[in-house]
Amino acid sequence: SQWEKKVIKSARPKSRAGFTVLVTGAAGFVGTHVSVALKRRGDGVLGLDNFNHYYDVNLKRDRQKVLERSGVFVVEGDINDIKLLQKLFDVVYFTHVMHLAAQAGVRYAMQNPKSYVNSNIAGFVNLLEVCKSADPQPAIVWASSSSVYGLNKRVPFSEKDRTDQPASLYAATKKAGEALAHSYNHIYGLSITGLRFFTVYGPWGRPDMAYFFFTKNILKGKEIGVYETADGKSVARDFTYVDDIVKGCLAALDTAKNSTGSGGKKRGPAQFRVFNLGNTSPVPVSKLVSILEKLLKVKAKKKVLPLPRNGDVEFTHANISSAQRELGYMPTTDLEMGLKKFVRWYTGYYSGSTKKKSW
Ligand code: NAD
Repeated sequence: SQWEKKVIKSARPKSRAGFTVLVTGAAGFVGTHVSVALKRRGDGVLGLDNFNHYYDVNLKRDRQKVLERSGVFVVEGDINDIKLLQKLFDVVYFTHVMHLAAQAGVRYAMQNPKSYVNSNIAGFVNLLEVCKSADPQPAIVWASSSSVYGLNKRVPFSEKDRTDQPASLYAATKKAGEALAHSYNHIYGLSITGLRFFTVYGPWGRPDMAYFFFTKNILKGKEIGVYETADGKSVARDFTYVDDIVKGCLAALDTAKNSTGSGGKKRGPAQFRVFNLGNTSPVPVSKLVSILEKLLKVKAKKKVLPLPRNGDVEFTHANISSAQRELGYMPTTDLEMGLKKFVRWYTGYYSGSTKKKSW
């Protein structure tokens, strides 16, 4: 069929050495950047996304246009649809799966707990089931989150630190994902790498994240809420620029070892890894605001508020030595430089003038 032809064409690598990657959540913020980067270097990429309404769907549709211009076809569907996943795996031999589809955000979980369980736990299991039975099995790289460190206050966070105190339902489902990944690795020899992203930002970003809605509200002259901890410190985040995250994702795919197991029966090398992907330099949110004020040339109307118990943690800070050693991961974009790129994209996109341009 026409659909099948599109799927096959999109998934075909440029050369035989190239990967064939299924990217779930491809129309998402990180998914778009990773998919374009893979396609550009010659890998075959097939996207999958359910285009949910968690935030502005038009933004996802516009990212999809960027993807299509790069030759990436996005199948519209849900990772909970096991028949669809099976069909994709019947049509294409995926060497790798980059799993980025998830219900993100910590605050939305209080009203919508089930969407987190559905996408981040049930959907992940569906995907793992299909991967485990594929022959050969693809290597899986997926997005966990810095939020798994939860109430742990010993910074910087290293992969060996405790993750048994999630502070949000989102974090709990990511933690569950890590446990599920380990069990599938142990039983079926699936090769799985979990990447704990730290507050990713950049062009084509997510409207539900602070840097994005601060920019929007500062430009509109609206008040913004800046959280403080009980002892009067500004909440701080280890903001990580999306291009740095993309490099980490690609390095994780490049170093992933495919299981040699046949039909999930034989044990493969059983590679199981977890890495922090952060920037190693946390910035107080008050500083984020002052950088935005400078870039936008508008004074923000700040309202300092006590940090509510809504799932946000006080500080995040990544120790990246293990990703540095094993993936060669090294972030190179500081917050001011990255925000400059974000603001340039934001003002262009919402003025409509550069909307049609890719990046
Ligand atoms: P995003 O919401 O922009 O992207 C996720 C995409 O997945 C969306 O386009 C959504 O439509 C799709 N999706 C959601 N549920 C789905 C389902 N059941 N089936 C198919 N598609 C589905 O988020 P993002 O910021 O690009 O995040 C990518 C991944 O990284 C997520 O797993 C997220 O939890 C994780 N992460 C992100 C950050 C960050 O700061 N952006 C930090 C830590 C972890």
